[in-house]
Amino acid sequence: MKTTILLLVLLCTISATGQTIPHFDGHTWWNHIKVLADDKLEGRDTGSRGEREAQRYAIEQLKDSGAQPAGANGFYQPVKFNSRQIVEKDCSLALIRDARREPLALGEDAIIGTRIMPASEVEAPLVFVGYGLKVPENNYDDFAGIDVRDKIVVIFSGSPSEIPGALASHYQTTAERWKVLHAAGAVGIVSLPNPAAMDIPWSRIALNRAHPTMDLDYPEFNETEGAKLALTINPARADKLFVGSGHSFAEIASLGKDRKPLPHFPLTVSIAAKTKVEVTPVESANLIARFPGSDPDLKDQYVVLSAHLDHIGIGEPINGDRIYNGAMDDGSGSALVLDMAESFKKHPEKLRRSLLLVLVTGEEKGLLGSKYFTAHPTVPTKSIVADVNVDMFLPIVPLKILTVLGLGESDLGDRTREIAQAFGVKVQPDPEPLRNVFIRSDQYNFIRHGIPSVMIDVGAEPGSPEQKIFKDWLTQRYHAPSDDVNQPVDLAVAARYEEIIRALLLNIANGDLRPRWKPESFFRRYAEAATIGSASIPQALGIK
Ligand SMILES: [Zn+2]
Repeated sequence: MKTTILLLVLLCTISATGQTIPHFDGHTWWNHIKVLADDKLEGRDTGSRGEREAQRYAIEQLKDSGAQPAGANGFYQPVKFNSRQIVEKDCSLALIRDARREPLALGEDAIIGTRIMPASEVEAPLVFVGYGLKVPENNYDDFAGIDVRDKIVVIFSGSPSEIPGALASHYQTTAERWKVLHAAGAVGIVSLPNPAAMDIPWSRIALNRAHPTMDLDYPEFNETEGAKLALTINPARADKLFVGSGHSFAEIASLGKDRKPLPHFPLTVSIAAKTKVEVTPVESANLIARFPGSDPDLKDQYVVLSAHLDHIGIGEPINGDRIYNGAMDDGSGSALVLDMAESFKKHPEKLRRSLLLVLVTGEEKGLLGSKYFTAHPTVPTKSIVADVNVDMFLPIVPLKILTVLGLGESDLGDRTREIAQAFGVKVQPDPEPLRNVFIRSDQYNFIRHGIPSVMIDVGAEPGSPEQKIFKDWLTQRYHAPSDDVNQPVDLAVAARYEEIIRALLLNIANGDLRPRWKPESFFRRYAEAATIGSASIPQALGIK
C-alpha cells in the first residue's frame, strides 16, 4: 500500500513542476565514460593495469561524492582468479568416422572453450540431444531414453517455446547445464550456436578465440566437475557433424529459430581432442561503497546498484584498432553509478534503507566478480533487499520503452513499470528470450542468492526501426574496438534513463516493504532456500 502512496507523491512532484527535477544532464555521465573508455585504460581487462586505473578513478569519484567505503579493504574487495590461455599450436581436434580422422580447423571449424578446463586428451562419441535441457518444472527432458554416458553431447543453443524465457535462461547456465550432464554421465559438450540469436558474427568470435578466460581461484566455485571438453562449432560448418545421421544443421536451425521441438539422435562420428592450457594467477577486486540510511529500523538493509567496471581489454585488431574500450559495455553502467553517487551529494535525499554501490570485476569472464560478491558479501546477504543492475543500457534510440529483465519475477518489475509510466515510458519483458540476457549479467548472481533483481535497458518494440539500430549496434560494436567514445549516443536519453533508475532506487530505499518475489516466480525458491533456518522469515518475505 505504501508503495502506491509514495508513487503518488512522485507523480505530484512531476505534475507540480511540469517535469522531474533534473538530477542529470548526460554530460557528467559522458565525461566519466570518456575517462573509463580512454585508450590509456586499454579496455579495462580483469586484473590489468587499465582496470586498476579505472578502479582508482572510480574510488576518487566515490570519495568525492561522500560515499563511504564498504569493501573488505576500504572500497576494495579483493578477488583471486586463474587465467587460462589456450596454447593452440599444441592443440588438435578431429572427427573420427569409421576409424578415419577428419581434422577440424581451430577457428574456422571450431573453438575450444576454456571456461570448462579441458582434459589434455579426450576421445568420445557424439550424440545430438536437441536443446540439451532438463526442466523438471515443465516435465521437459531432452535426455529421456538417451544414453549419454561417456559421450560428448551436441546441443543446439536455445530453448523450446514451452519453457518460459527466464527459466530457459537459468537452465542454460554452465552450472545448471553441467549438473544435468554430469548426472547423466556425459564427459563433454559441443555447442552449436543458434544463428538466429548470435550477437557477434562467427568471424569475430573466432578472431578472439585466443583471448584468455578466467575462473575464480577458490574450490567452492568449481561447477564443472568431470567435464573434459567444451567446444563451439561454426554454424556454417556444422553439417560435418551430421553426415550420415539422416539430419542436417539447416533442419535443426530452422526448427530452433522458432523454438520448435528438436529431434534427438546419435551422430555417426566421435571427436578426438588434444589440448594445452596455460594457467596463471590474476588478482583484481570489486569496489563497494555505501550511502547510509537513516531509519533506525531499516538502515541495516541495503539496496544494491551494480555495474561492471571490467571489460575485455586488448584483442585482435579490427580496422587497425586493438583496444576494446567498452564505452557502453559497461562504461555506461559504471559511469551511471558514479553519476548517481554525485547526484546524492548535489541533491541529498533522506534514505531510509542504505544504498550500496557495487562496481564488480570479472563480469566479462563469466559474472565472476558478482559471483564472488554474492557468495561473500560485505554486508549480510539477508540484508540486501534488491539489486538494480545496469549493464550496457544503450541510450542510442529515443526513450519510449524500457526492457526490464526480470519484469515478471518480483514486484521490482511493477515498481519499475509505475515509475517509468510517470516519465511517459513503457516497459516490456525481454523481447528476445533466445539471447539469454537474463543470465548474462551480474543480476543473475544476486537472484541465485534469493535477492529480487532487475536489469533495465533502453528498449525497442519488436519490428521497430529502433530494434534494427540495436541489432546493428550488436553486430558492429558489441565486444568490438568500435564500442568506444567515437559513437553516437543521446545524452538526453541517458539522463532520463538515470532519472528513472534514481527514482527506482529511492522507491526501494524508502518504501515500507522490501521487494518481494512473485509467488509464481521460479526464482523465488532461492529466497526460500536462503531463509530456511533463519529467525527472520517474515522479514525476508517482506512482511513487516
Ligand atoms: Zn560485455
